[in-house]
Amino acid sequence: ALIGARNWNEIISLCERLEAGATHLDWVRPEGNLVASVPRRALLGRTAYIKIADGCDAACAFCAIPLIKGPYRSKPLTEVLREAQELARQGVREIVLIAQDTTAYGRDLGLRDGLPTLLRAMAEAVPEIAWLRILYAYPQHVTPALIEAMATLPPVCHYLDLPLQHGHPETLRRMRRPYDLQQVYDLIGALRAAMPDIALRSTFIVGYPGETEQEFEGLLEFMRTIAFDRVGVFCYSAEKGTPAAELPNPVSAEEMAERYDRAMRLQEEISLARNRAQIGREVDVLIEGAADGLSVGRSYREAPEIDGFVLLPGEHAVGEFLRARIVRAETHDLVARVCPG
Ligand code: SF4
Repeated sequence: ALIGARNWNEIISLCERLEAGATHLDWVRPEGNLVASVPRRALLGRTAYIKIADGCDAACAFCAIPLIKGPYRSKPLTEVLREAQELARQGVREIVLIAQDTTAYGRDLGLRDGLPTLLRAMAEAVPEIAWLRILYAYPQHVTPALIEAMATLPPVCHYLDLPLQHGHPETLRRMRRPYDLQQVYDLIGALRAAMPDIALRSTFIVGYPGETEQEFEGLLEFMRTIAFDRVGVFCYSAEKGTPAAELPNPVSAEEMAERYDRAMRLQEEISLARNRAQIGREVDVLIEGAADGLSVGRSYREAPEIDGFVLLPGEHAVGEFLRARIVRAETHDLVARVCPG
């Protein structure tokens, strides 16, 4: 059987038909509802993801997602709220908003400042949610209204994942990404001015076709200057059918691996320094697990599954929020002690 990328939410009906004896089912319907809501289950205890849109209107030269998923389509705001309420009833306290580009939310629905509007609506309609976290922001879509909503709405985490892909204008130009670095510096400045405690995460590709040593050095300099709290580094891999796959001057596998190591080593130093600056701070920690006299949790600075942890002595109740003081810092993780009282 075949099922289309826009029909994934019909997979149960497809399986039922197969079980009933149907063969050679072709379930590919381009008009399918890519963003339809399905009954939600919290898969990570107190934390759950909500996909607020799917598809992408950007044209990054290395990315096959627009080819596979088609144009950007937002989930209606009422549907997102309904899912959030359902998750809250199941005990979820942290919702992570995801999409190929969360910051484009609502444009296709004619909403201006769609994401800030959604954040306000969620904060009001689902007060049980303690943390609302935004992943996958596109730099040019982070507006003053979004920054204001993040800074002022209590449940919105002072955390932003902003995949920038590179830090040299020429590489960014070949990637067909926004390449005006001054705009990025201004944006980071505005985010940090509005939220001095904001944790920033980004991702970068090394070894993009034609990436010279000078361009790679430019990326390192960019990483040093911005000092993201956390960074994911990926080696370029050609996606069939994308413009980047046709670009000349590939970077050799050895060179790519060497650049990957250099970028990771640099970021480890930066992450350690950023984590050390947390020592002495008090933060809320969501406990995710406990065993052998130790609890593992996260503060607003750590997104689930991609960032590090906050470790606490003692076995605390999973799902509880505890106030804790950071006492030690490692490259990825922090150690904290529960505040008395
Ligand atoms: S990298 Fe992200 S923003 Fe760029 S085309 Fe792919 S999904 Fe869209």
